[in-house]
Amino acid sequence: MNTLINTALVVGGGFSGMAAALQLAKLGIAVELVEMDPSWQNYRAGISLSGAMLRALKTLGILEAFMEVGHASDGIDILEADDAFVCRLETPRAAGDGVPGGGAVMRPVLARLLADAIFRAGVEVRIGCTYKSMQPADDGVVVELTDGSRRRYDLVVAADGVESTIREALFPKAPRPRFLGQGTWRAVLPRPAELERTTLWVGPHFKAGLDPVSRDRMYVFFNQNRDPLETIAPEQFGPIFQGLLAGCPSPRLRRLAGQLDGGASIIYKPIEVLLMPPPWHAGRVVLIGDAAHATTPHLASGACMGIEDAIVLADEIGRAATVEAALDAYQARRWERCRLIVENSARLGEIEMHGGDRRAHAQIMQKSFMALAEPI
Ligand SMILES: Cc1cc2nc3c(=O)[nH]c(=O)nc-3n(C[C@H](O)[C@H](O)[C@H](O)COP(=O)(O)OP(=O)(O)OC[C@H]3O[C@@H](n4cnc5c(N)ncnc54)[C@H](O)[C@@H]3O)c2cc1C
Repeated sequence: MNTLINTALVVGGGFSGMAAALQLAKLGIAVELVEMDPSWQNYRAGISLSGAMLRALKTLGILEAFMEVGHASDGIDILEADDAFVCRLETPRAAGDGVPGGGAVMRPVLARLLADAIFRAGVEVRIGCTYKSMQPADDGVVVELTDGSRRRYDLVVAADGVESTIREALFPKAPRPRFLGQGTWRAVLPRPAELERTTLWVGPHFKAGLDPVSRDRMYVFFNQNRDPLETIAPEQFGPIFQGLLAGCPSPRLRRLAGQLDGGASIIYKPIEVLLMPPPWHAGRVVLIGDAAHATTPHLASGACMGIEDAIVLADEIGRAATVEAALDAYQARRWERCRLIVENSARLGEIEMHGGDRRAHAQIMQKSFMALAEPI
């Protein structure tokens, strides 16, 4: 049983919120999680995982389950736009010698692993539910939920994503998410036998990538310069993505164009970035994950940062003398690491958008992977 707090409410059932609920429940805290999406579904795209993410999954206790359903491998191959090999980036084995330095999995599969773990840990989950009001109370927060309940919690964890309404309410002057100037196209396709690891094509003004997500599937993505304010009708997704792949100098990417199925499984998203300056907590409410720092996908580390936030938060709650000290220590341990990932990711995007130095691009990636492998 934890001596600092007895009850916690987690708002948001994404990767960060589920990880926080799990780690706090492990301390013996009675944890409730509210997720406003009644379907509680993660969208059908792949997600790339660094060695640090595999280490985080190990801490959560779901690495073995991941290894059965996802894909893990070492290194990232960088190619020229015409398929010429440039280099293989090293991906340090942060989770231990026996675990590769990276991997990927389908998002709904990872979400399922986390959801199973929080149910096993006894977290009370309310789906299709959110908060109506939050009022600070003595050493806690009184929260009214949309299911009509009203309770006092010792701690509220705001894991409500990049558009966090809790962040806006607590910190009216906090920055808003900023569009980078790139959009990303994604689809899931059959995995060719020869694709063993993440492979990136860094061409002038675009980046494309293939990532195995299981024994027989891979996901393909393409970062393209786009006006963030434009609206693209979903029926255009297929033709646009097909056109982008068909126009690539790379024969390997061109072959994929014919495999896209007219748009049904294609996802387009403008890329945005947010870095909330400290503090990430006010009273007994603390921000984690994209609610505090939403990174662009260029280092494939946003979910990793959110899950690490959850691990560090619970770690500090488990050992600090006061909740305030725990939240300060959480902030101190997370700020520099999250800042580095958000800023380096955005820098990679800038280089891609402006056709910048590809050697510098590879160096930033390599340095960031080394930093990610450092202890948290
Ligand atoms: C194109 C793209 C590609 C990416 N690729 C990668 C990658 O390869 N690897 C990687 O590690 N990261 C990647 N990321 C980043 C990663 O997806 C995010 O950092 C991560 O999903 C954030 O998780 P989260 O739980 O903090 O927020 P979210 O995933 O946004 O979850 C927030 C949850 O809270 C719920 N919610 C919101 N408001 C409320 C409310 N008021 N009440 C109740 N519930 C609420 C939402 O419904 C949602 O379920 C990528 C991001 C993008 C945009």
